[in-house]
Amino acid sequence: MMNLYGDRGNVISIQKRCEWRGIPVEVVDVRLGESIHPTGCDIFLFGGGQDREQALLADDLSGSKGADLRSISAAGGVVLGVCGGYQLMGSHYETADGEKLPGVGIFDLHTEPRKPDEERLIGNVLVRIPLEDGSRGEIVGFENHGGRTRLDGAAPLGEVVSGFGNNGEDGTEGARKMNTYGTYLHGSLLPKNPWFTDRLIETAIKRTDDTFELEPLDDGVEKSAFESVSARVRRG
Ligand code: GLN
Repeated sequence: MMNLYGDRGNVISIQKRCEWRGIPVEVVDVRLGESIHPTGCDIFLFGGGQDREQALLADDLSGSKGADLRSISAAGGVVLGVCGGYQLMGSHYETADGEKLPGVGIFDLHTEPRKPDEERLIGNVLVRIPLEDGSRGEIVGFENHGGRTRLDGAAPLGEVVSGFGNNGEDGTEGARKMNTYGTYLHGSLLPKNPWFTDRLIETAIKRTDDTFELEPLDDGVEKSAFESVSARVRRG
């Protein structure tokens, strides 16, 4: 239900990058009315969707599903929300029709609808993400949203180098809280940015084995795809 512009590719990317290293993966789809706890999952992916899907989901999320996701995130669980999913991880999202949908409340942010004289925010995006060691990582993706996300204290995931990000005004993109990430980047995001995929996998496994190190893969093809796309996006 929450799967736009290839978001399902995020699932496939995690699955393949684990399998290539001999790490077994089981993918569990959580449908409307189904519980996410206890799925026993290590990584939770919440894809994008339009206002219609978001409205259908809001009720479901306001019960135990939302509360479980909140507690998984608060305990340091690995969660990634994209676009419509990301919007529903804030305090609320007001749709283009003025319907105010409650969010899960993981991030201290809210999303306002596009005003009649405003455009949808569409295009390729390049984002710079601050890393723990003081360096920066870059991710590329594709965004298409009407909603404008305003951070009410939430830390951004990164800064926009090219594109719109949260609202097209303040230069921020996405949000991050511990191991929970929200972003407007479809793409799919993870196949295009293998280092970020590995970060999610490694974080998830390190939660049960802190000595664990991911084996490097030959990412030559992925890296050259990234270089070519990011150079193009950087030029605008
Ligand atoms: N419906 C939301 C918006 O347009 C999210 C769309 C999406 O997930 N791409 O703001």
